[in-house]
Amino acid sequence: MRLSILVLLASTLFAQPEYDIVLKGANVIDPKNKINAVRDVAIRGGLIAAVERDIPAAKARKAISLSGLYLVPGLIDLHAHVFVGSEGENLAGGDAGIFPDTFALRVGVTTVIDAGSSGRRNFAQFKRTVIDRARTRVLAFLNIGGVGMPGDDKEQNVADMDAQAAAELAMANRDIIVGIKVAHYRGPDWTPVERGVEAGKIANIPVMVDFGEFRPERPFQELVLKKLRPGDIYTHCYYAPVPMLDDQGRLLPYLFEARKRGILFDVGHGGAAFEFRQAVPAVKQGFPPDTISTDVHSGSLNSGMKDQLNVMSKFLNMGMSLYDVVAASTWKPAQIIRCDQIGHLSAGALADVAVLRLEKGQFAFVDSYGARMDGTERLANELTIASGRVVYDLNGRTHERWDRLGKYGPIGDPSWDGSRGAGRPRRVTLAN
Ligand SMILES: [Zn+2]
Repeated sequence: MRLSILVLLASTLFAQPEYDIVLKGANVIDPKNKINAVRDVAIRGGLIAAVERDIPAAKARKAISLSGLYLVPGLIDLHAHVFVGSEGENLAGGDAGIFPDTFALRVGVTTVIDAGSSGRRNFAQFKRTVIDRARTRVLAFLNIGGVGMPGDDKEQNVADMDAQAAAELAMANRDIIVGIKVAHYRGPDWTPVERGVEAGKIANIPVMVDFGEFRPERPFQELVLKKLRPGDIYTHCYYAPVPMLDDQGRLLPYLFEARKRGILFDVGHGGAAFEFRQAVPAVKQGFPPDTISTDVHSGSLNSGMKDQLNVMSKFLNMGMSLYDVVAASTWKPAQIIRCDQIGHLSAGALADVAVLRLEKGQFAFVDSYGARMDGTERLANELTIASGRVVYDLNGRTHERWDRLGKYGPIGDPSWDGSRGAGRPRRVTLAN
């Protein structure tokens, strides 16, 4: 009796593979764990289970060979606009939100942070219509302006920038709201920045600033040297009006001073905020971005920005290493939003993974002013896994060949489960 129970137990143990998926033979880049080497990665129950030199294929329900490719944590885009149709056309402020699943997963982005498209008056609508429906994980910087970015006029309404109310909403939604956004202001005063920082202090979260119109009454140097706190973010760091170079083309020393105090510099490429004549000398002289982000909206998507991988490829061709480009798109943004469950591949992390191909050839890239930079490398996405599920598979690597399946009916595409509610990203916890 006892023996038969043991046999039964043993047979069920052996019948159940240890892992759901094992991804074999890719060059793993995991900056948090300082890994840049060929490794196998195993996934179980939506989490990273193991990263080792050799994990036998037999231990998993599915083994996928990825030699010659780069396996990285699912990319995190720190600056996106995904509040679809927040009010009217939402174009006057320059941002036109698009549903995240239409652009993110296909380029390896598994988490987007919406940068202030909503404010405290329409965050609930944003959550209901986008955040709760998307397969892409959506987090948010809450705009200090009450209605977010419905158009330029309303974004100038200082009377509706309530630090206490914004902070309270952020604290009540601490699983989604990662920070406060200040953006697009044209006035001569510091009010929006000061209210944003005040809200950030109350809720103990970072503030991201788009400086709007650069005015002599409120110098940029003062923003990054005095007004912002360590851990706050200046986005659009290679935007033309940013004082970056002296007459001899040398980087201005205050930039390094600001970085030393802990101010973070984010790309936020967008439709009008990235120039090679700022970025190329900056990277060459030792001022790469802390984080690489898109500022994606319906305009930037179809102009020089294109997508997260295109922006990452620009920095590769400017001389940043692939390792650093991956760090700036994974573990660094995860740290900024204080989330330790994404942006890396430690055992127990959420199984968000992108498998990238580094193409060599003649390529070209365009900045926000329409200027071109030639290059020889470009990143492309092969496979995206989000919360342990295949959500994008360019070359059918996770699929069986049609002529080996025999007589097959509808077998279902593992990268597309259309059933309601399927494939939602797992919620994360954000540290205070
Ligand atoms: Zn933006």
